[in-house]
Amino acid sequence: MRELLSLACEECKRRNYTTDKNKRTMTDKLVLSKYCNSCRKHTPHKESKIK
Ligand SMILES: [Zn+2]
Repeated sequence: MRELLSLACEECKRRNYTTDKNKRTMTDKLVLSKYCNSCRKHTPHKESKIK
């Protein structure tokens, strides 16, 4: 039961990363600090569904 997700930059809303998570063990919204190429810095990246 894994769900495919993309990680979107909070500032420019670009989807820079893809990941997946286990729905059963991770029910919280994922927010990760990742490097964004268009902002050229680390920004919070929020999960969003790919479908
Ligand atoms: Zn960005």
